[in-house]
Amino acid sequence: MSEPVLRLEGIEKVYNAGKPNEVRVLRGAELEIAAGEIVALVAPSGAGKSTLLHIAGLLDTPSAGRVAIGGQDMTGRSDRKRTTVRREDVGFVYQFHHLLPEFSALENVMLPQLANGAARGAAKARAMGLLEHVGVGPRAAHRPADMSGGEQQRVAFCRALANAPRLMLADEPTGNLDPATSDQVFAALMGLARETGLAAVIATHNLELAARMDRCVRLEDGLLVPA
Ligand code: ADP
Repeated sequence: MSEPVLRLEGIEKVYNAGKPNEVRVLRGAELEIAAGEIVALVAPSGAGKSTLLHIAGLLDTPSAGRVAIGGQDMTGRSDRKRTTVRREDVGFVYQFHHLLPEFSALENVMLPQLANGAARGAAKARAMGLLEHVGVGPRAAHRPADMSGGEQQRVAFCRALANAPRLMLADEPTGNLDPATSDQVFAALMGLARETGLAAVIATHNLELAARMDRCVRLEDGLLVPA
């Protein structure tokens, strides 16, 4: 069997260790995700979803435990190595789009590719293909401020997938949208994920959306349990 795209083993996270304001957020979380698998992460606010996603995406380090991406154990790796793996293998989506306001939708999706060494023509073609796939091709030349919330978030998905990562991590990606828009944007995200065959962890409060994913896990008392 091939290696899981993401493996979390015994992940612990303590903030302010040893101080009066110590917070134990994760207490041995375990997760394995195969290529093509889309997993919902549900938990109340403050349970540690963002902390877990940041650790899985190499933006933060656990207090204990191991993170492996594509079978590569990232424990004790240099910042440089972690940055390379994050840039090439991981795409992040947040509740707010965080697109660069002075660039068009197309440029926002091209930039990560150019930063990764892609040629301009190839970056443009891939960006346009992604934008068309989620139905915002006609908006490619617009800046984020001239797009609706749902369109901005679809562009943010395209940007996250610009470098063809094998893992997508999304933190409440539709949390800021009205229910009808949320539904459309979620469908676009699922379509894009299925098309590219990537593995994804999508944190959401929306149990209806969670039920449309392949599997659902809950963060409870610092552990991941099947939901
Ligand atoms: P969620 O995403 O589920 O809302 P978070 O991962 O943001 O939860 O936070 C989990 C807990 O950890 C919260 O109690 C939060 O206050 C605490 N926390 C998060 N980041 C820090 C930090 N940098 N320092 C101290 N406590 C933190």
